Amino acid sequence: MKKSFGTLNVLKQVSFDVAPGEVIAVIGPSGSGKSTMLRSLIHLEDVTGGTIRIQNQTLVDDGRYASADEIRNMTDRMGMVFQHFNLFPHLTVLANLELAPKTLKKENSKAIRTRSMELLAKVGLSDKADAYPANLSGGQKQRVAIARALMMQPDILLFDEPTSALDPELTGEVLRVIKQLAQENMTMMIVTHEMSFARDVADRVFFMDNGEIAEQGPPEQIFGAPKLARTQTFLQRVD
Ligand code: ATP
Ligand code: MG
Repeated sequence: MKKSFGTLNVLKQVSFDVAPGEVIAVIGPSGSGKSTMLRSLIHLEDVTGGTIRIQNQTLVDDGRYASADEIRNMTDRMGMVFQHFNLFPHLTVLANLELAPKTLKKENSKAIRTRSMELLAKVGLSDKADAYPANLSGGQKQRVAIARALMMQPDILLFDEPTSALDPELTGEVLRVIKQLAQENMTMMIVTHEMSFARDVADRVFFMDNGEIAEQGPPEQIFGAPKLARTQTFLQRVD
């Protein structure tokens, strides 16, 4: 895929495949295009060239997009979790979880309620169903955001710096939830600055720099023996 904003080439020629169940950690300096890449995958951005296929369906081919229905069909199978949670402040935790499935009207409300309570239990927040986001810690808000993404039963989850807005003592509870999803074979791409987490959870690491995947490989290679000088420099700076 390629993406420019005006004359700025933000994604130059980013090419990759992700296998089902694979966990990709995306690292790299600020402005290298990490968020733009994730946002393009879930069609929050229109790419300006290239091809994206999601589970054998073509989202965009050589810059030409599928129909709106087809696009929705693909993006419905993906969920995204953002740095700043993006919860609806006027809705309770439960209502945040149930809003999208209820809007879709594909299931009865009992089935939706069963799943929302299961997912709150999964992220350790059964007791917060009736709380409002303002009364939760950052780590709790992010766990609600993850549960909300899971409500749509996605095949693929995208995380854009899910712990960057959190105090250090709250990151662990969020990373534990993501790690559990990895163990359940959820397909995930995780943009993160948490290098030890990336090393621990990722099957493959992409080092993005200057609008391209400069280097990729298993975590042992990227963190233990990076080939490029710029990967080494980046890792020295963040450690
Ligand atoms: P960070 O680590 O700071 O989140 P990033 O790797 O996620 O950085 P992006 O947010 O993808 O980087 O941005 C890549 C480049 O694209 C930056 O130069 C940014 O200024 C530019 N950019 C992003 N969104 C837009 C936009 N809507 N309009 C114009 N330029 C944009
Ligand atoms: Mg970003």
